[in-house]
Amino acid sequence: MLVENTYDLIGHTPLMHLPMETPNNVNIYAKLEMFNPGGSIKDRLGMALIQRGIEEGKVKSTTTIIEPTAGNTGIGVALAALKHHLSVKLVVPEKFSYEKQTLMRALGAEVVNTPSEEGIKGAIARAKELAAEIGDAYVPLQFQNQANPDVYQHTLGPEILADLANKPIAAFVAGAGSGGTFAGIQKSLKDAYPDLKGYVVEPAGSILNGGPAHSHRTEGIGVEFIPPFFKSLDYTGVKTISDDDAFYYVRWAAKHLGLFIGSSSGAALAASLEVAKELPAKANLVTVFPDSSERYLSEHIYEV
Ligand code: PMP
Repeated sequence: MLVENTYDLIGHTPLMHLPMETPNNVNIYAKLEMFNPGGSIKDRLGMALIQRGIEEGKVKSTTTIIEPTAGNTGIGVALAALKHHLSVKLVVPEKFSYEKQTLMRALGAEVVNTPSEEGIKGAIARAKELAAEIGDAYVPLQFQNQANPDVYQHTLGPEILADLANKPIAAFVAGAGSGGTFAGIQKSLKDAYPDLKGYVVEPAGSILNGGPAHSHRTEGIGVEFIPPFFKSLDYTGVKTISDDDAFYYVRWAAKHLGLFIGSSSGAALAASLEVAKELPAKANLVTVFPDSSERYLSEHIYEV
């Protein structure tokens, strides 16, 4: 495969039929988003946020892009900003992985840390303050920007449908941080299969199942407020996965599948196996593995 630049490598990731035993012999298909060049599902979003900002006239060549992020969106935004020669400041709560913050800086972004205990809400507030101070700045704000679910609805969802061609999809299982991935892909899959069951995955400590809210080690998913993209979204249920279960499946995937998956992918696999128990024999279930374990090695992802 000959390509001319890094951006041509975004999207069209593999969909793997996981070679494993499952409840009811359900087929689990996982979209391997770690194969994007920035290493995660959020490369697609970075490109979409900047593109839409340019189209809407909010981003000019002098504009500084500022975004609050747990990390992967930051890498995606930094990658996209590099393409358009724009300066970037990423506001990241201190607790998020060293590797992700290092990669953002490698792409030329400035990383501004906020206290971990203030969570993503603290990062959002700081991003808005910075934008007000700078003036010629744009905060795409993935948590409420419609480009977020849209890019997944129009790229990742159709890729899954094309890869599965004539196989009907009974269930979709995916984690939620901003909720863009889940909302966008579910919309695309439900347009094709209206009876599809959709399960959102969150770590224990997130509030979708009623809480209680507390910190968790599973990175990239978990919400502190109901994502605006979920307001009119009809989903079947929420699967709340403990950090222990998510990390168990991270280690399991390396040992049994030879696949390096991050903790949100471990949670997605744990939840998929729970959902499989409720499905008819040999049904098809689709899930998403958003990134790889390699960006969490400093957090001892294989050693818990
Ligand atoms: N997993 C990982 C590793 C992520 O970085 C993110 C994005 N924060 C997600 C899952 C969830 O994606 P979304 O924000 O679209 O809900």
